Amino acid sequence: MLASAPRDVLGRPLRDLRVSVTDRCNLRCRYCMPREVFGNDFPFLERDELLTFEEIERVVRALVGLGVRKVRLTGGEPLLRRDLPDLVARLCRIDDLEDLALTSNGVLLGRMAGELAAAGLRRVTVSLDALDDATFRAVSDTTIPVQTVLDGIVAARAAGLAPIKVNAVLQRGVNDDQVEDLAGWARDTGVTLRFIEFMDVGTTNQWKRDRVVPAVEVADRIAARWQIEPIDPDHPGEVAERYRYTDGAGEVGIIASVTRPFCGTCSRARLSAIGELYTCLFAAEGHDLRALVRGDADDTALRASVSAIWSRRDDRASELRAADGLQGPRVEMSYIGG
Ligand code: SF4
Repeated sequence: MLASAPRDVLGRPLRDLRVSVTDRCNLRCRYCMPREVFGNDFPFLERDELLTFEEIERVVRALVGLGVRKVRLTGGEPLLRRDLPDLVARLCRIDDLEDLALTSNGVLLGRMAGELAAAGLRRVTVSLDALDDATFRAVSDTTIPVQTVLDGIVAARAAGLAPIKVNAVLQRGVNDDQVEDLAGWARDTGVTLRFIEFMDVGTTNQWKRDRVVPAVEVADRIAARWQIEPIDPDHPGEVAERYRYTDGAGEVGIIASVTRPFCGTCSRARLSAIGELYTCLFAAEGHDLRALVRGDADDTALRASVSAIWSRRDDRASELRAADGLQGPRVEMSYIGG
């Protein structure tokens, strides 16, 4: 049942929801979870603080009632959440939820792809910032070989998860030498690659504008190797600038949040693992829905609360980013799943 779909102050609908199911991860990517901050003594969320699967399902049902059509499961690393396929099965039973996806670092995908597909998951996005093993280990601050992630992608395909998308965050002087190799590998492997501009998400990744590889440069480098042509967005709010290889080898995309922000059509909210609703990736804090869900609010009250939150939304952080980046407190990416 669709209650009146709220629009925010800029007229943007609420269509996409990213659901973080844990703030923990088995990698320590420097641009997201630097180990010196997220070390062994970091106060990660305790299990009883996390929304249960029943509670997540209830929130998602309420937001589908407000117009959400796409849900993406994230983390931290979502595959670390025990029994995750049960949540997938629950969400797949929600009428009007048109698209359920998951973003993973791929380390556990080899083990779990079959179960996730059997539970109803249709597609997966894997974060992979380098093909070169040494670069991969340096960017992810791990001893896990890149082959583990590559094997996870093969397992996802074998389990019928498709399309498989791969996201690569580019940093100048760190992995920007990987552009052509990643693009070539994606063409040969048949995965849809997305390059992502390095963003000042949170306040721990020591972002500097000169470490951003602008989308225009990435597109030029790809075009220097393969003929490409732009593809029109599938729907309003699509974040990637997409290019088709004219030789039929699929497409490649670039998410240019820094150099070509797309706040004007941003229809995305994020739910933290403890039930806070964030209306922007760069927000300082979220709105507590857990108290409502664990209190005596019914679904109508839950929808009304979210509708009121969204109607007051005027976020456009990327458009307002100053030359030296965003200022002030900001939630960490690992906490709300990027
Ligand atoms: S900066 Fe905020 S408002 Fe802009 S696109 Fe990103 S999440 Fe949306």
